[in-house]
Amino acid sequence: MKIIMLGPPGAGKGTQAKRIAGFYGIPHISTGDIFRANLKGGTPLGMEAKKYMDQGLLVPDDVTVAMLLKRLEEPDCAKGFVLDGFPRTIPQAESLKEALAASGKHIDFAINVDVPDEVIIDRMGGRRACVSCGSTYHIAYSPPKTEGRCDVCGEALIQRDDDKPETVGKRLDVYHEQTHPLIEYYEKDDVLDNVDGTRPMDEVFDHIIELLS
Ligand code: ADP
Ligand code: AMP
Repeated sequence: MKIIMLGPPGAGKGTQAKRIAGFYGIPHISTGDIFRANLKGGTPLGMEAKKYMDQGLLVPDDVTVAMLLKRLEEPDCAKGFVLDGFPRTIPQAESLKEALAASGKHIDFAINVDVPDEVIIDRMGGRRACVSCGSTYHIAYSPPKTEGRCDVCGEALIQRDDDKPETVGKRLDVYHEQTHPLIEYYEKDDVLDNVDGTRPMDEVFDHIIELLS
């Protein structure tokens, strides 16, 4: 099963993608997580991506597409994957479609997690992340058992620089301009499903599984 998660930053794509991946035993691939891992490791790709991430801008398509397609070649992707945060532009979607078509494959589902901007501001303001294992929390809706510490690996949780209020507005503008058109793109391909992302996490998950089954 090859699944794409669509929706604004902070909609809950990652939260749901991790659960879907666990449910179906397929990898969860987040381009944001790959960039952050590179940044943490001090790689040239991480340094390049940081210039854009810090400003709430998208990393250029050529860099992002090359990185993602390389990841999809790994053996664990043979039985499917959940993409979270990719594609974010029409050219990225076209590159993905071409690459999959070259081996007779296609995207099966594009799940649009629909959440209005005012809810996003609250979600991103309260998001806390573990840069060590990639777990995500919310100070009100999904708090860790011990304040400020990751439940999974015990590392200190951080607020991502790009979740600070000064960057969130820019990221939402970029979403509306460059990423929102993908909803129509996948609607035309007849693979789009919408879910109400303002509902509690478990209800959103149940709705997604119902759509995928
Ligand atoms: P995205 O991957 O789309 O950027 P996340 O999955 O990281 O979004 O979710 C953003 C924040 O909102 C996180 O702090 C997460 O714990 C919280 N969150 C996700 N889904 C819900 C939900 N349905 N209700 C309330 N909070 C949520
Ligand atoms: P995310 O973790 O999905 O919120 O992504 C964090 C940041 O990484 C984004 O604001 C972008 O700067 C960058 N990024 C992640 N995925 C992409 C993508 N598909 N295209 C371009 N930039 C991306």
